[in-house]
Amino acid sequence: MKISVKTSARTQMIDITAQVRDVVAASGVKNGLVHVYSMHTTGAVTINENADPAVEADILSCINKVIPFDDGFKHMEGNSAAHIKVSLFGPSETIPLEDGKLVLGTWQGIFFCEFDGPRQRRVNVKILPDP
Ligand code: ZN
Repeated sequence: MKISVKTSARTQMIDITAQVRDVVAASGVKNGLVHVYSMHTTGAVTINENADPAVEADILSCINKVIPFDDGFKHMEGNSAAHIKVSLFGPSETIPLEDGKLVLGTWQGIFFCEFDGPRQRRVNVKILPDP
């Protein structure tokens, strides 16, 4: 099942926890693993705090300083910073599913990380039921 994510900025973290929960609920699966996977080379998936939006702002501010948009990169498309950020963050997360609920801590949310937006993005959600 694929989730659609419309991003609106060059770099942005979008909370997709509710959409992932909807996919899980529709599947009827109660126990297993949920794999959330970005189908892009310039957009990642991560889990972090979704209570205070300042956390997202700080993560983006920091990663944009560590990996500047322009740094003499060779890639002709001009978006090497985004490719590098995705390789650091990784394209996916795997979340345990127990009794129909994602096993997330109180402050944890699942985010799509846009590093070369704005764009329309797709995130694949694969549910692996317990045997
Ligand atoms: Zn590129």
